[in-house]
Amino acid sequence: MRLVPARRHLSASRWQQQQQHSSARRSLPVHLACTTESAGQVDTNMADLGTTEPEHLLRGLRHLQECGGDEEAGGPPGTDRPSGGRGERVSAAEEEPWRRSRLPEAVRPRHYDLNVAVHMDNFTFSGDVGIDVECLKATRFIVLHADRLEVSSVAVTAKRPGGGAIRVQRHFAFPANQMLVLVLHRELRASRTYRLDVTFEAAIEDELLGFFRSSYGLGGQRRYLAVTQFSPTHARKAFPCFDEPAFKATFSLSLRHHARYTSLSNMPALDAAAAAGEDGWTTRRFARTPPMSTYYLAWAVCDFASRETSTEGGVTIRLLARPDAIASGAGDYALHITKRLLSFYQDFFKVAYALPKLDLLAVPKHPYAAMENWGLSIFVEQKILLDAQVSSASYQMELTMVVVHEICHQWFGDLVTPLWWEDVWLKEGFAHYFEYVGTDFLFPKWNMEKQRFLTDVLHEVMLLDGLSSSHPISQEVRDAADIDRVFDWIAYKKGAALIRMLANVMGQRLFRKGLNDYLLSHMYGNAARDDLWKKMSEVILCRVQAMRSEGRDIDVGAVMDRWTLQMGYPVVTVSKNPAGQLATRYISVSQEHFLYGQDGGRGNSSFQWQVPLTVAVGNGSRVSSETLIWIHNKTETHVMSEMDDKTWLLGNINQTGYFRVNYDLQNWKLLIEQLHADPQVISVANRAGLIDDAFNLARAGYLPQGVPLQLMAYLPEEASFLPWHAASRALYQLDKLLDRTDDYNLFSDYVLKQVATRYHQMGWPSNAVNGEGGVLQAAYQTEELQRELIMLACSFGNKQCHRQAVAYISDWISSNKNRIPPNIRDVVYCTGVSLMDEDVWEFIWMKFHSSNAVSEKKILLEALTCSDNAFLLNRLLNLSLTSELVAEQDAIDVIIHVGRNPRGRNLAWRFFRDKWDVLDARYGEALFMNSKLITGVTEFLNTEKELDELNEFIRSSGEGAGPAMPRALEIVKGNVRWHRLHRRHFYQWLRKGPAPVRRSPPGDVSLAA
Ligand SMILES: [Zn+2]
Repeated sequence: MRLVPARRHLSASRWQQQQQHSSARRSLPVHLACTTESAGQVDTNMADLGTTEPEHLLRGLRHLQECGGDEEAGGPPGTDRPSGGRGERVSAAEEEPWRRSRLPEAVRPRHYDLNVAVHMDNFTFSGDVGIDVECLKATRFIVLHADRLEVSSVAVTAKRPGGGAIRVQRHFAFPANQMLVLVLHRELRASRTYRLDVTFEAAIEDELLGFFRSSYGLGGQRRYLAVTQFSPTHARKAFPCFDEPAFKATFSLSLRHHARYTSLSNMPALDAAAAAGEDGWTTRRFARTPPMSTYYLAWAVCDFASRETSTEGGVTIRLLARPDAIASGAGDYALHITKRLLSFYQDFFKVAYALPKLDLLAVPKHPYAAMENWGLSIFVEQKILLDAQVSSASYQMELTMVVVHEICHQWFGDLVTPLWWEDVWLKEGFAHYFEYVGTDFLFPKWNMEKQRFLTDVLHEVMLLDGLSSSHPISQEVRDAADIDRVFDWIAYKKGAALIRMLANVMGQRLFRKGLNDYLLSHMYGNAARDDLWKKMSEVILCRVQAMRSEGRDIDVGAVMDRWTLQMGYPVVTVSKNPAGQLATRYISVSQEHFLYGQDGGRGNSSFQWQVPLTVAVGNGSRVSSETLIWIHNKTETHVMSEMDDKTWLLGNINQTGYFRVNYDLQNWKLLIEQLHADPQVISVANRAGLIDDAFNLARAGYLPQGVPLQLMAYLPEEASFLPWHAASRALYQLDKLLDRTDDYNLFSDYVLKQVATRYHQMGWPSNAVNGEGGVLQAAYQTEELQRELIMLACSFGNKQCHRQAVAYISDWISSNKNRIPPNIRDVVYCTGVSLMDEDVWEFIWMKFHSSNAVSEKKILLEALTCSDNAFLLNRLLNLSLTSELVAEQDAIDVIIHVGRNPRGRNLAWRFFRDKWDVLDARYGEALFMNSKLITGVTEFLNTEKELDELNEFIRSSGEGAGPAMPRALEIVKGNVRWHRLHRRHFYQWLRKGPAPVRRSPPGDVSLAA
């Protein structure tokens, strides 16, 4: 799955600005500090499947259940002999297995025959399921999952010639564990197969889980559809099943519904649409699936239109959506890239796509951005439909990456499924990493994996993972609440960052070979992290000589366990010639657990990592090739060649490692001088990395506050997008800390000074809208830099930027023609709303009503949060929860974005507390949404008073909200602490002013704060 938010920091709503004159406060686009969680999606596919039963199917099911003894195998099949004593008395060992949170493993499913009748007129469904189960260990109980289902009959028969019915003594629901329990009259016998038949019915709910309904408008009519969302634990809401990922089985589904609808599932329909019967209904049977986990099963009943294409290998790809969206061609882009991606992944993984078809279904409402059901992946419309005329490059990039993510899951997820939820990062980390690799395949000039990955994944997750409320990426999962919790940014982004680090240490060739071995060994089955490490170690062993010569003979499992089982990450401190007691070519390297809010150290001192530190030495105009040093101890000494007093050291070359690097102050000074004199000597990735490391080291108290400010003063020399992007992320965070302080102008003046030269040089984009695919062809890096500079300039109060934005809005209103370039519409709308009068707010509100393009609708809504009029902001907050116009998933963004506006912060914070019961009821079950909301509303609180209010709120009502509340508390405490300890030094440095920006002579850099 892909979690919804994954928003780029530049989106309109992140910033608001309302500066009329220099004393006003701006609200800027804010980067996600430590915020959103995302979920991913899964897909499944299979070609012919047969009955491959992976040997390891049940390996790793941790909580082995003792069910029934071996001592007594019961009577001959079909007889009904009670197994022990009278009635239900059972041995202590097999007593009440349904009280455990995991299913017993005495019985496992092999195949499901599932028939579902869908009543769209009254939103109910009824069904019967026949499950072939194998008994692994004699038992009198069959325990499976069922939730919210009305079960009307159950039956068990032995599956062998002459095998008859087995009397069911009783059956009952055990709601605490969402289980359905059958108590049999006699034991099932090991190594035999049985058939379990259950009939049931339920409602098609108006909530985004299980089998749910939604609707859309067309030609003044409301039309309905019903689709599934089973991940992670909601298949049990649609049919009784063994709803744990390791219980893979095959599925034969048939759907019955009125003939005015069509239906879809993972596999193709076996026959052309059957003619409607006299009652107007029709039945569709779908081909048998390969072995797969229950949460990847999917179906849909709708009246959508479609477009289709096919790959050279004969896989049919269809995109299905509202008829008007299909007619306008809004689905064509996703269809086109999906076709290319299937061949890319087949080539990369050397494993064929496993199913005969892949459907992409665009639905109006969905709890996640998308879900990778095998052969029937489901996307929320905003993440798959593209109107090239009005969409910005960033919208297109986001959409592209969601598609790339889901298609990757067809292998990492559907074909090879994590054994249990504790290793969900095994699929989500890969899918997130491949968003960048796969997008590079589609658009090589975007350079995503080498550049954008850093700001959007690495820098983002290190914010979150630097908190003491973080957790290891592999975390114990016991019950259903834990399962929802694992879908967070740590699983997605840290997973991706660790995979990227491993790929770089191993080298691409060996890494790909390892992936190929892993997929082939576990296809149609499950795997745990150790299975991956084993395959990676094996390919390295095969190449051990070559690897050793490169210092890369590593035990992958031993190295990676440190990174996956410990939370957080290290800060590696590199010092030249420590204390002057060694010759100049010696360096000392130490590692410690990095933590915010600890003021320079004192993380968990027992944590230690095996760190692949790459180091290079530079001097004025050149830099050496990199050296790989493995750091195993807390402190080590190493020898570097080519070092003298004038050379600087640079660690973590191209930021491939998941850690921060700190230096002695003299080395920082040399690096800063280098950036001012000739930034090109240091790679783009490392320039961005230096900015992010310096800013966060200072924020956490490891460095004086002046170091990042002095470093960022080189920005007028910076011509590349990525370092600017890293800098603006850092600046927006500072902005949110400072935007209500008396000396704020010192800070905004500093930012405007850095931005001015490059902003005027780049100018504004031409107002021609993009032609077909125009965004694709564009010089992405240039456009993104231009956009970043405009956003910074307008946000921090550049007058010329304001005039330009106001002129665009005025032209739109007077001509009723929107000539604003799509790429900067969010910036212009927000600036206009914040600077202009109430009529503009009403104008944007009206456009929001009337717009049909999903991307446009979203930025119009977010622009409304930029007003500095408290009345309008309150009106918007109330509308967000009551108006049919605001989709449920968008209401959260409205509240968060009002909170990012300094004028709205108190309003959003109060609204959030007042409406907590409503919000918690609405989003509580989708934990990541709740978490996004909590973090978004609280992360910029920074006064003692606000901290007290948060404490009070948590005490009175917020304790059930999962890990988001403790994290919010830690972040706000950190904000308050920063103000207490560092704000004065920060402003002192700004008052003194940065050293000259242009090519300052050596020695001119003052770092002390
Ligand atoms: Zn995913």
